[in-house]
Amino acid sequence: MNINSLVRENILKLQPYISFRDHNEFNTPTFLDANENPFGECNRYPDSTQKTLKNKLADLKNVSPKQIAVGNGSDELIDLIIKIFCEPKKDSILMMNPSFAMYGFYATINENKVLQINLDENFEIVKDDFLKITQENLPKVFFLCSPNNPTGNSTEDIEFYLQNFNGIVVVDEAYIEFSGKKSSLELLDQYPNLIVLQTFSKAWGIAGARVGMAYASEEIIKLINTVKAPYNVNVLSQELILNSLNENKLEENVNKILVERAWLQDQLKTIDCIEKVFPTDANFFLIKMKDVNKVYEKMLVQEILTSRRDPAISGCIRINIGNRQENEKLINLLQNVI
Ligand code: PMP
Repeated sequence: MNINSLVRENILKLQPYISFRDHNEFNTPTFLDANENPFGECNRYPDSTQKTLKNKLADLKNVSPKQIAVGNGSDELIDLIIKIFCEPKKDSILMMNPSFAMYGFYATINENKVLQINLDENFEIVKDDFLKITQENLPKVFFLCSPNNPTGNSTEDIEFYLQNFNGIVVVDEAYIEFSGKKSSLELLDQYPNLIVLQTFSKAWGIAGARVGMAYASEEIIKLINTVKAPYNVNVLSQELILNSLNENKLEENVNKILVERAWLQDQLKTIDCIEKVFPTDANFFLIKMKDVNKVYEKMLVQEILTSRRDPAISGCIRINIGNRQENEKLINLLQNVI
C-alpha cells in the first residue's frame, strides 16, 4: 500500500520542525538560541524529539525509535492522525459504535464525516457490515479500539481488518495491558497501514502526565512528527515517564488492578439490581442495570461518579475498577438499591 497516496496534499509538502539543539550532541553548550530565560527551575524547552524516552520505549517494545511518536496523551495522536490523512469536508473516518468518543470528536472538529459500524449483541464487529460500509464510503482511517471502550471486549482477527481496509487502521490499545492479549505491535512490519496507539494513562497509572505513543512505519511516524507541536510533551512529564520506565512497576500495577477486578466481579454476581455484567479485558466493567435511573441517582447522592452510557447503550453504566475501599463503597451502595 502506498501510504503517501493517502496523505493530504498540503501535509506532504511540509518539512518537520528541526531544532538544531535537539539534533546535535554538545559537551558544554551555552544555550542562547531559543529565547529562554537563563534563570528558573524549568527554564529550558523540552527535547522536541523525546530522544531518551523513545530509546527506552524502543527497547521495551522491540521496535526502532524511528517507529515511535510521542504525544500529549494518545488523544493528541488521534487528532494528528486525522489531520494527516483526512481532508476537511471531503474524507471520512470509520469507528465502531459504541466506542471511544474522541475519534468522532476530533474528526468532527476537522470537518470529516464520522461513519459508525454498529456492534452486534456481543459487541463484536459484523464483518459483512464492515466490508459493505468500507467499500461504499472509502473512509480514510479506521479506529479499532481493542479492548474497546466502553464495552470492555477485545477484537479477534485484527489482520482481517488490516487486509480489508484501503486506508489507515489505528488499533487503539489503551487497555491492552489488562487483557493478557497479544499486542498488534508485532504486525507493524507486515502492515504499512497499521498504527498502534498505547498510553501511560491506564496500566501505568500516569494519566496526569498526558503521555501516549503511536507506533507505526518510519514513514507514518515522520508525518506525525511533522505535524505535531514541537514541544508537545513537557519536561516534567518526560522525566516522570522516564522514572516510571526505570522503576519498571508495570506488572505490579496491572496485577493490583487484576486482583481488584476479580474481587469486584465476584461481588457483582451477588447484586440484585444488576441485569448483566459484560465480560471485560480492561480496567472497567460495563454493567446493565435493571433500573439504571434509580442506581445512577443513588450513586450521585453518595458522590460515586461513574460513566452513564444509557440511553446510547440501554440501561448501562461503565464503572472503572478502583482501590479496595472504593470498590467496597460501590458494592455497598449496589447492595442497598431496592
Ligand atoms: N483511547 C482510549 C480507548 C481511551 O479510553 C482513552 C482514555 N479514556 C484514550 C485513548 C486517551 O488516552 P490518553 O490519556 O493517552 O489521552
